[in-house]
Amino acid sequence: MTHFDLFVIGAGSGGVRAARMAAAQGAKVAVAESRYFGGTCVNVGCVPKKLFVYASEFSLAPEASQGFGWDYQTPRFNWERLLENKNKEIDRLNGIYQKLLNNSDVTVYEGEAKLAGKGTVSINGETISADKILIATGGWPVKPQIPGSELAITSNEFFFLDKLPKQVLVIGGGYIAVEFAGILNGLGVNTRLSYRGDKLIRGFDEDVRDHLTAEVAKSGINVDLGRSPAEIKKNSSGFSVDFDKGDSCDVDLVVFATGRSPLTDNLGVENTEIELANNGAILVNDQFETSEPGVFALGDVIDRVQLTPVALHEAMCFVANEFKGLPKKGMDYDLIASAVFSQPNVATVGLTEEKAREKYNDVEIYRSSFRALKETISGGEAKTLMKIVVDKESDRVLGMHMVGDHAGEIIQGFAAAMKMGITKTVLDSTVGIHPTSAEEFVTLRDPVTS
Ligand code: NDP
Repeated sequence: MTHFDLFVIGAGSGGVRAARMAAAQGAKVAVAESRYFGGTCVNVGCVPKKLFVYASEFSLAPEASQGFGWDYQTPRFNWERLLENKNKEIDRLNGIYQKLLNNSDVTVYEGEAKLAGKGTVSINGETISADKILIATGGWPVKPQIPGSELAITSNEFFFLDKLPKQVLVIGGGYIAVEFAGILNGLGVNTRLSYRGDKLIRGFDEDVRDHLTAEVAKSGINVDLGRSPAEIKKNSSGFSVDFDKGDSCDVDLVVFATGRSPLTDNLGVENTEIELANNGAILVNDQFETSEPGVFALGDVIDRVQLTPVALHEAMCFVANEFKGLPKKGMDYDLIASAVFSQPNVATVGLTEEKAREKYNDVEIYRSSFRALKETISGGEAKTLMKIVVDKESDRVLGMHMVGDHAGEIIQGFAAAMKMGITKTVLDSTVGIHPTSAEEFVTLRDPVTS
C-alpha cells in the first residue's frame, strides 16, 4: 500500500498551503482534488468575483469623468469577452497551483478521496495509508428549500452564465448578495436585491450597515428589505417569484446568495470517529484535530471564519504544530480584517460599536461621513463613512470601519496597527497623507455621542 506522511483532501487555499509547507519540511505529501485546483477562491469565488467587480466599476467611469473634461461615445459592454478573459486568467491560476504542488514534490491525485478507516484513504480504486490526513474540502452554496428553488442558481453557476440577463433577483443580504448585486447593477442589469432583514450585512457595525444599505440603494439597485421568497415558478420569459409578503416579481434569473455549508458529502466521515456540528461542520480542537486520531481539518469545512486568508493561516498553524516540532499552538483569530467588495466597498477590523459597548464600560466613537474629493467635480453622490471605536479607559482602538472606495486597501494597514495595540493618541500623532480619504482616520478629533 502506498504510504504518505500527510494526505490532504482538497486542493483549495488551505489544502495547497498545508501540502506545500509540510513537503518543504521534508514530509512525503499527497493531495487529492476532485474538482478544480485552487478551490472556491480561485475558481468560483474571490478571484473571478473581483475581476467582475472591476468590470462593473468601469461602467461608472465615463459619466464620472465628464466633469473632469472627458467625453466618450456611448460605451458598450461585451459579457462574452469578459467571460473568456476571466476563464483564461482562472486557467492560468489553476496551472500555477498545479505547478506549485509539482515543484514542491507533492503527489497529486485527481479524483474523489474518501476516508476509508483508520489512517487510510481510498481514491480512484486505490487504498492509501497516511500518518496524518488533513480534510480541507471547503464549502458549498446552500439554497433555501422552497418550491422551485432548483430553478435558481448560486454563485457557482453565476461565473459561467453564457448570456448576461436583463433582470435579476439576488436573494440574501450577506457578502455574496451585495457583491453580486453590485456587479450586476454595474453591468447594466436591472437588479433587485431581496433580503429578509431590515438592513444589509448582518454582523457588521450598525452605522456601516445603515450607510451601505443607503448607498447600495442610491447606486440604482432595487433594495427590497423584510421579505423572503416563498416560491419560484417558470414563466414564458423567465421566472416569477412569489414573496412571503404576498407580492411577486418577474425576472430572467434568480440568484441565491444565502450562505455556504461545509462540504463533507461522500467524504466517508461515517468510517471514522469524526464528529460534526449541527450545520455539518467538522468539529476540531485548537490544533485542528478531529475526534478521529490522526485526522485533521481546516478552512471552510470547519466553519470558523469562511475567509481564504484564514484558511491559509490555519494551514500554517497546522504545519507548524505537526511538522516543525515546535510547541503546539492554536491559531490567533483575533482582529481578522475583512472586506466586502460591494459598491461601495466595506472593510472592517476589530469590534463593532455594539460589541465594544457589551465588553467595555466607556466606549468613544469617532465618525465621519463625507463626499470624497473625486466625487466633487464628477457630480457623484456617493458618501464615504469612517468610524473608529475606542476604549476610553485604555485609549486602545477597538475597531475601525469604513465604507467607501478602496476600503479594503486602507483597512489592511490599520489592521496591522491594531494587532500592535494602536491607541487613539498614536492615531492622532500620525501625520496624514493629503489629500486622501484614508487621512480621515488620523484626523478625527472629536468623539460623537453614539
Ligand atoms: P453570508 O452568511 O454572508 O450571508 C447569507 C445571507 O443569506 C444572509 O443575509 C442571510 O440572512 C441570508 N439567508 C440565509 N438563509 C436564508 C434563507 N433561508 N432565506 C432567506 N435568506 C437567507 O453568506 P454568503 O453566501 O454571502 O457568503 C458565504 C461566506 O463566504 C461569507 O460569510 C464570507 O465568510 C465568505 N465570503 C467572503 C467574501 C469576502 O471576503 N469579500 C466574499 C464572499 C463570501 P441573515 O443575515 O438574516 O441570516
